[in-house]
Amino acid sequence: MKMVREMIIQQKTKIARDTFEMLLRNEEIADQAKPGQFLHILIPGCTLRRPISIADVDRMQGTITILFKVSGEGTAQLAYFTEGMHLNVLGPQGKGFPLQIKENGSILLIGGGIGVPPIYFLAKNLASQNCNIHAVLGFQKKEYAFMRTNLRRFVKRMSLQMMALWVRKDL
Ligand SMILES: Cc1cc2nc3c(=O)[nH]c(=O)nc-3n(C[C@H](O)[C@H](O)[C@H](O)COP(=O)(O)OP(=O)(O)OC[C@H]3O[C@@H](n4cnc5c(N)ncnc54)[C@H](O)[C@@H]3O)c2cc1C
Repeated sequence: MKMVREMIIQQKTKIARDTFEMLLRNEEIADQAKPGQFLHILIPGCTLRRPISIADVDRMQGTITILFKVSGEGTAQLAYFTEGMHLNVLGPQGKGFPLQIKENGSILLIGGGIGVPPIYFLAKNLASQNCNIHAVLGFQKKEYAFMRTNLRRFVKRMSLQMMALWVRKDL
């Protein structure tokens, strides 16, 4: 059963343009979290919880790392939360990625923007299974890019694409 829990913010860091990393502590969630799952975070004033992926777990410390980009009202408010404050969280939510990989097999991970954080947790898990990991990451622009150095620890080959998506408003 998914339970509502309090997570204490241990650290908040700005890691790229409009993008923040938070270290959250809750031993139960850290114990259960699997790659591909997310936290459903209650933001004061917002009716619906906002889903944010689990980017990393430290079970010994009982902590979870999340990364989020400010894209609207909820994430803008979340960016004001700081060390020592509590978050009301439902989770871990979702089934997670399949993790049964052939030993010494190869896998290609593709992620763009805020789709990159769950790839880190997945790559870390697959690397512990002796998997050959290749990654293709995409970001809007260089100033929005993050996690490249961290991912390189687990990835054999990595390609980085910068691609701004222009949406024509007259269509
Ligand atoms: C499973 C899952 C995992 C996710 N993991 C992450 C993660 O790890 N990190 C992360 O940063 N994000 C993640 N997201 C995305 C994140 O949940 C959203 O960015 C967040 O919920 C947006 O909430 P908000 O209140 O900030 O923005 P909202 O106010 O909901 O707005 C979001 C976007 O929609 C636009 N918008 C809002 N209302 C309208 C409207 N009426 N008409 C047109 N456009 C509108 C806004 O301009 C904005 O660009 C994930 C989403 C899912 C489903």
